[in-house]
Amino acid sequence: MKTEAKAVVIGGGIVGVSTLYHLARKGWGDEVVLLEKGELTSGSTWHAAGLLPLFNMSYSVGQLHRYSVELYQQLEAETGQDVGFRKVGNLRLAMNQDRMDEYHQYAATAKTIGVNVRFLTPDEVGGLWPMCVTDGLVGAILHPDDGYIQPADLTQALARGARARGATIHRNTTVLGIEQTDSGRWRVVTPDGEIHCEHVVSATGNYARRTGAMVGLDIPVMPVQHQFIVTEPHPELVARRDRGEPEMAVLRESDGSWYLREENGGFILGPYEKGAPCCYVDGPRPDAEYELFQEDIDRLVPHIEAAIARVPAFGEVGFKKVYNGAIAYTPDGNPIVGPAWGLDNFWLNEGHSFGITAAGGAGWQLAEWIVDGEPTVDMLGVEPRRFGDYVSKAYLMAKNEEAYASVFTIHFPDEERPAGRPLRTAPCYGRMKERGAVFGQKFGWERPNWFATDGMAPEDDWSFRRSHWFEAVRREVDNVTNRVGLLDMTSFAKCRLSGPRAEAFLDGFVANRLPAKRGGIALCHALSPGGGIHSEFTICRESADSFYLVSAGAWQRLDHDYLLRQLRRFTEGDRSVQFTQLSGALGVLVLAGPQARTLLGRVTDADCSDAAFPWLSAREIVVGMAPVKAMRVNYVGELGWELHHPLEYQNHIFDALFKAGDDLGLQPFGIRAMDSMRFEKSYRMVGTEMSIEYSALESGMDRFVRLDKGAFTGREALLAQRDAGLKNRLVTLEVIDVDDADALGNNALSCDGEVIGRATGGNFGFRVEQSLALGMVRPEFAEMGQALEIEILGRNYPARVIPDSPFDPGNHRLRTGSDADD
Ligand SMILES: Cc1cc2nc3c(=O)[nH]c(=O)nc-3n(C[C@H](O)[C@H](O)[C@H](O)COP(=O)(O)OP(=O)(O)OC[C@H]3O[C@@H](n4cnc5c(N)ncnc54)[C@H](O)[C@@H]3O)c2cc1C
Repeated sequence: MKTEAKAVVIGGGIVGVSTLYHLARKGWGDEVVLLEKGELTSGSTWHAAGLLPLFNMSYSVGQLHRYSVELYQQLEAETGQDVGFRKVGNLRLAMNQDRMDEYHQYAATAKTIGVNVRFLTPDEVGGLWPMCVTDGLVGAILHPDDGYIQPADLTQALARGARARGATIHRNTTVLGIEQTDSGRWRVVTPDGEIHCEHVVSATGNYARRTGAMVGLDIPVMPVQHQFIVTEPHPELVARRDRGEPEMAVLRESDGSWYLREENGGFILGPYEKGAPCCYVDGPRPDAEYELFQEDIDRLVPHIEAAIARVPAFGEVGFKKVYNGAIAYTPDGNPIVGPAWGLDNFWLNEGHSFGITAAGGAGWQLAEWIVDGEPTVDMLGVEPRRFGDYVSKAYLMAKNEEAYASVFTIHFPDEERPAGRPLRTAPCYGRMKERGAVFGQKFGWERPNWFATDGMAPEDDWSFRRSHWFEAVRREVDNVTNRVGLLDMTSFAKCRLSGPRAEAFLDGFVANRLPAKRGGIALCHALSPGGGIHSEFTICRESADSFYLVSAGAWQRLDHDYLLRQLRRFTEGDRSVQFTQLSGALGVLVLAGPQARTLLGRVTDADCSDAAFPWLSAREIVVGMAPVKAMRVNYVGELGWELHHPLEYQNHIFDALFKAGDDLGLQPFGIRAMDSMRFEKSYRMVGTEMSIEYSALESGMDRFVRLDKGAFTGREALLAQRDAGLKNRLVTLEVIDVDDADALGNNALSCDGEVIGRATGGNFGFRVEQSLALGMVRPEFAEMGQALEIEILGRNYPARVIPDSPFDPGNHRLRTGSDADD
């Protein structure tokens, strides 16, 4: 056995082997080793049904799936191994308008990433699937280019391709321990010896938590039981074959939560049942190989009945075998692909529930990341650091069972799933609830999304269109615009960097200049080496050697991990910069609106005048009797302050504000109102308008990028892009003639029938009474007034490029609280 390698991949399922293959393809062939404790595919891969559904609502995952399906078709020519790819297509039925909306929203993503789809009428469904009853259908979506594959053969083909490039595979070799040595290299321990390497990739499927425990990681993966039924042959299917008729597409009745495909003249039925339990809760037995569980027919019955109603022939055949195996899950159902937090050069390719489909793309992008330092696709949707410490074993059990049962539910953009909630609540949670808050959840935190007032039921009404909360949000925006509102943003990620070299470190970490004066605030971006925006921080200088950093709550682990990685390299272990985690210790209440100054002035002795407390400055003040760091910034474009405070004072501050703010019209507002207002200001958000897929210049963040300040991460790439010219431009769009739906993101933007970009997000702007979108377009389509078309839920609407910040472009209101400078 080799004792030295550049990378060791642990796990010989489809995901590990694909990672090995792609590392080899990146030129590391002779220096990569895969260790598998049993035989290749002996985990979950051998019993997978082999379906390759391209359908996925996530922009990241969709691109991984598309790549896989393209790659798999080329493997036989490359390796000589038949992978059994059957391009039969994939037909998803819709039984209601919401489902059709979901398909249209998905189809827009598909268009922007180059996946081919077609919409069918019920009659066309009958033509393609003559054995299918079309009653009750409103339509269907067809992917002509996907189908199914033989997972074991596919794994062998990738293994062949990897070996042909020099990679080594050791079967029957269990990894017993993984340690990082003082030099930063890894020591991987097996019964046959040790391998020292630079990088370790964990691709251990149902063993993910066990593998993570070897290096102190609590990996948010836990499998759920998943079943499928293989039937005896059906005479009609056999006859179709005999007549030389083509195999029918994989059929999915999303509303019945099952799929059906042909298999050797019979059927395979795969349901996603409610109540399927988590399994291997404490990890599989070390010797668990080719393991199946006892089938649970009772759980399958509703789906069997639904399938028989749709395809009566399915009820006419006996069951040959029921497979019940473990399928890895994460709380949101997407895999985790990328770097592990807190460790250098330890990579995760885990949590795959559609692992046969995703393996090609996930291996490809992980290899890019490992070898080149960053992926080429925006991987936020599968980013391992999107979860945090709040994910306990009990939480995983609740959420993963929910994620499994939700595979076929309608994926509404405003969906907020209930399991494992409430978990993290700010002290003002109860007070917000009394005022009608309808909560959503981010990074485990409960946050008011909107407020049910005027007799409305405090219940969500998820939709792809404007739903009943639309008018409630209008009232919240109106109150913030004309009076004053309060938003709970306790979920923000917060930390402090201090020490003699804190400034020098931060200066090289972010692209903007740091605030020079004590109490100064600057919006700063940490870029990827390629010049894309990785993280956005509001940075406040507290003193000569102390900085307070605030970033998006959803990305706490990601942002802090990115910072700490660079910090480790910068300090090389000295104590010149200290990082203090403050996220859970400090709460944030955002006060915004023209009356914000009057109200704040009533509860503090501090001078809140513009001269004493200007925009982009922070002061330590006392509100009522509570210590508060008040920061004059917000994300809604109105006069206002973020009030950062030790959590235990939150209700004192809340009550002081509401007591003093009654006659000024103080009302709470939620995340959805904030989102509407940020579009009116063209404020970008990490993950949509700002990502590593686009450079900071393409995202139009030029004014926050100081190319002349000296070295910082991403600077060289930006200089090169500036000289070469940009490929994209972020524009603000007004969307014309829509009356019941706004852009949700990933909408195709076209001109004269040609797709020239994609909307990254959209919303209705109540202050400008206009549907708005932000979008990335080719630069030649970014001129003011450029007419475009935007696809929203299957219809094209006219759109026009307009100047940024359609509301209050001069920023008078956030400076003065009124429409003109005082
Ligand atoms: C019934 C069923 C049907 C499915 N159908 C589909 C489908 O149609 N389409 C689809 O895309 N997906 C499907 N899946 C999901 C798919 O099977 C998985 O997503 C995929 O196989 C995961 O691959 P993997 O490589 O991550 O995990 P695995 O195949 O489980 O591989 C992990 C490997 O790691 C090894 N390992 C673990 N610990 C160690 C260690 N310490 N040392 C060495 N080796 C170790 C294990 O032995 C194992 O071989 C299905 C799953 C089930 C249960």
